[in-house]
Amino acid sequence: MTKDVNLTEPLKQYFGFDSFKGDQEAIIRNLLAGNDTFVLMPTGGGKSLCYQLPSLLMEGTAIVISPLIALMKNQVDVMNGMSEDGCVAHYLNSSLNKAAIQLVMNDVRRGATKLLYVAPESLGKDENVEFLQSVKVSFYAVDEAHCISEWGHDFRPEYRNIRPTILRIGEAPVIALTATATDKVRSDIKKNLGICNALEFKSSFNRPNLYYEVRPKTQDVDRNIIMFIRQHAGKSGIIYCLSRKKVEELSAILKANNIKAEPYHAGLDSAKRSQTQDDFLMERIDVIVATIAFGMGIDKPDVRFVIHYDIPKSLEGYYQETGRAGRDGGEGLCVTFYSNKDLQKLEKFMEGKPVSEQDIGRQLLLETAAYAESSVCRRKMLLHYFGEEYTEENCHNCDNCLHPKSKREAKEALLIVLKAVMAVKENFRSDYVIDFVKGRPTDDLVSHKHHELDDFGAGEDEDDKIWNPVIHQALIAGYLKKDVENYGLLKLTSAGKRFIKQPQPFMIVEDTDFDDEFEEESRD
Ligand code: ADP
Ligand code: ZN
Repeated sequence: MTKDVNLTEPLKQYFGFDSFKGDQEAIIRNLLAGNDTFVLMPTGGGKSLCYQLPSLLMEGTAIVISPLIALMKNQVDVMNGMSEDGCVAHYLNSSLNKAAIQLVMNDVRRGATKLLYVAPESLGKDENVEFLQSVKVSFYAVDEAHCISEWGHDFRPEYRNIRPTILRIGEAPVIALTATATDKVRSDIKKNLGICNALEFKSSFNRPNLYYEVRPKTQDVDRNIIMFIRQHAGKSGIIYCLSRKKVEELSAILKANNIKAEPYHAGLDSAKRSQTQDDFLMERIDVIVATIAFGMGIDKPDVRFVIHYDIPKSLEGYYQETGRAGRDGGEGLCVTFYSNKDLQKLEKFMEGKPVSEQDIGRQLLLETAAYAESSVCRRKMLLHYFGEEYTEENCHNCDNCLHPKSKREAKEALLIVLKAVMAVKENFRSDYVIDFVKGRPTDDLVSHKHHELDDFGAGEDEDDKIWNPVIHQALIAGYLKKDVENYGLLKLTSAGKRFIKQPQPFMIVEDTDFDDEFEEESRD
């Protein structure tokens, strides 16, 4: 395919669009040139077109690996709606019978099918591998690529088999796409798919129309929510809870308060779930109270608020869930209720899981807690988490920017932290570094003989509460970074090393204190 092939024409012809959105054209050209491609684009950015269009222009059939049967079906219907004979796209998954599978295979074999959607577990089946070995594969598209990483918000072990299966079927360019990925997840995806040299296309993750707020979760949380909904009467919203039990309880409370709300979770039968989804889309109900089972593939553009009743398990999940508000570019209010109690409860839930899983879960949870407790601009923190720098002083659309706290000088404290990170050879996480600066001789510290170092206890005289915000804000300011391979280990950046030689003023805002808020269970 030549560099200057006209792409606007097929874009218009097949999709009816006049121009490309964002990086779409560059992405498509990179894929057409036969290169591996990595696409990071927020939901609604137009990822599907990045593989749909080139599949139509290339010889052979593109294999699209996608985790959800409902999404596959939807995309196949859309693609086939555009063509005359209705076989441009097909899917292969566990829902098809033998006859239907034969039909799909015939269409692929005779070259009529340009896009074949496959669930990862179906892809690896011997009969499918053998079949695909016999046809020309134009490229592989791995949708929702974050599912490959245990550090992502939706880990699916079967995604780990994609690379070996591709090698069995036969190599072709790979395009991986996702709507959320931290540096850690990005690195996992590339390694696992064997596309370390892929060209990366990253759009901004900023959603300027979303308003972020964290409120303390007190005994009045239900009343707070009812009041919030009344203030936004007639508008559509989603409330996320962690447990099915809480979903049921809260939706009953809302109903009793004359709010048109329905519960949604994986324990409800599928007829009830699709009824609720329909009612929400058609605005027969205003509020869905849901577990995170609700939302993947839901495209209601005018969701006006997303409330997190419980602290989300990871910031990636939080970004994804809040991202369902204001897709049309209009108002989107994202309010999270947070208490330290919830944090402890979640940590307790993890006990009993395999150690490595617990460790990952705890690290992710700590990131969420740091976000919730911090007084820094929420947008800045979220974007930083996704490896993006937000340089505005004030976003004017989050609680911390609308009600800024006064800043205090923390030059000395930062110096103590940076020296501590250096003293422990950049090989420990933030809680360890904090023990070190406070001079707490924990077993772990003593076993490394770090209590014998000069800098041990250098921060004894400072207020205990300063260390978390100093470290968090030093990460955001770029004096420290977290190691990607060994996630969480604190490393000095070159700016951090310079700071040690030549300290600068460093203003921070103290965290919000969410201690001892209340007993959630007290009236159950
Ligand atoms: P994502 O998968 O990134 O969430 P989609 O592929 O579902 O996004 O696309 C989001 C919306 O944008 C869809 O309604 C799609 O039809 C539309 N879209 C995609 N590309 C273009 C374009 N070049 N011009 C106009 N609309 C587009
Ligand atoms: Zn802000």
